[in-house]
Amino acid sequence: MFEQVKLSYEMSALEPVIDQATMETHYGKHHAAYTKAFNDLAEKAGLAGKSAEEILSGLSSVEDDALRNGLRNQGGGYLNHNLYFEQLAPESEAAKEPTGALADAVKEAFGDLETLQTKLSACAAGQFGSGWGWLVADKDGKLSLMATANQDNPYSLGCDLRPILLIDVWEHAYYLKYRNLRADYVKEIWRVIDWKVAERRYAAQ
Ligand code: MN
Repeated sequence: MFEQVKLSYEMSALEPVIDQATMETHYGKHHAAYTKAFNDLAEKAGLAGKSAEEILSGLSSVEDDALRNGLRNQGGGYLNHNLYFEQLAPESEAAKEPTGALADAVKEAFGDLETLQTKLSACAAGQFGSGWGWLVADKDGKLSLMATANQDNPYSLGCDLRPILLIDVWEHAYYLKYRNLRADYVKEIWRVIDWKVAERRYAAQ
């Protein structure tokens, strides 16, 4: 049974960067709907015992087109949002920069943190239509950026890359507050991204 990540903060706790109404619809409606649909499809496909990562990495073994596409979209929506909401924290609590091995990897790949943030924001802002911007690590721990459409992620695309951070650029993630100004949202979101979560993901390789 797939479950939404439990929020460690109140729906209003990310204000003013992410407003309460956006949280209530995004987590309470959109993510809840992806989660329910993914559970139903995983059950139908006989894959309910597997992890979301396993299911998305193994989509090619699902022969039925509608079922495979459904798992890709709903499973991606489920997993991507778990990663997204987990990495957010109130501005006063979020670790504003990485330490240790992740800090070293950021320096190696981007020179400094500000460059990484500027480039990932631009990567996310530049995704045409709905999708996500990602900071990912390869099996050697080398960091890079990518953008994906819809609810695709490194698993469903068959990339041997692990998510470290991600920015949702579906309009439902920002439109109530930022309207058409996606570039403002992807710049402001750094205030509530908790690098401690990114460090845990990076260390888990
Ligand atoms: Mn979303």
